[in-house]
Amino acid sequence: MRALILGGSSDANDLADAAAQLGLDAIYSYGGRTQAPAAQSLPTRAGGFGGAEGLADYIRQQRITHVVDATHPFAAEMSRNAIAACTATGTALIALERAPWQRTPQDNWIEVADVAAAAAALPERRARVFLAIGRQHLAPFRQKPQHAYTLRFVDPPEAVLPLPDASVIVSRGPFTLAGDLDLLRSCGIEWIVARNSGGAGARAKIDAARQLCLPVVMIARPALPDRPRTESIAEVLAFLGHDTPLGA
Ligand code: NAP
Repeated sequence: MRALILGGSSDANDLADAAAQLGLDAIYSYGGRTQAPAAQSLPTRAGGFGGAEGLADYIRQQRITHVVDATHPFAAEMSRNAIAACTATGTALIALERAPWQRTPQDNWIEVADVAAAAAALPERRARVFLAIGRQHLAPFRQKPQHAYTLRFVDPPEAVLPLPDASVIVSRGPFTLAGDLDLLRSCGIEWIVARNSGGAGARAKIDAARQLCLPVVMIARPALPDRPRTESIAEVLAFLGHDTPLGA
């Protein structure tokens, strides 16, 4: 057994810790987008493989027997490539994927299919908007240049932002409810745009929005072909042939 963990999420980091603790033969792969990714206890590589074919070549060269797609739920291109490459090479694949957040009766969500629809859902009158999305997804918000946008990135932006009124907070999660309540209040935020990432590390803004009765434009996850998936690290370890509970 030799595993490739497609990472870049907190779930992937937790899996890598567990796999390292058990002495499993596994490689952790980063997309290479952040300047200082979290250190891992497994051997690590970074950067694209060169599409599905490049990943298939890598799988063959490295004699990978199992692929775990533990990328962020919105990293759809990588997930599609993993499905194609594993099919082409006959490699076992599982996705470690957290459940999406569920709306509660106290939430004021406007649910949309993608980033373009999120921009369209913002009001026409000027508002202060917290855009909790990646920096590569800003372009659609050019159609609403009247808003004052607050953005939160892991790294400082390298290029000029495509929005005329945007301020950037550089911060790495996990975020807390108290911290996000403070951010929303101090910036006078009136609207939030978020992707339905699920998990604990990013949900503070959703809980804070509920407390402050703010509308959230919630972007649904991209659709992917069917693939085996689980939310459980123990199930991934069993998929990797390790049935012993951690700590046993
Ligand atoms: P994406 O759009 O699905 O992927 C674009 C390309 O980046 C892929 O085709 C692949 O290049 C490369 N790539 C992505 N993840 C990779 C990985 N783990 N290892 C090696 N190459 C990878 O992905 P994205 O949304 O840009 O996300 C990039 C990374 O950031 C992912 O690892 C993801 O887990 C992490 N991340 C993403 C988000 C998000 O909101 N999307 C949030 C937090 C963390 P090739 O085609 O050349 O192989």
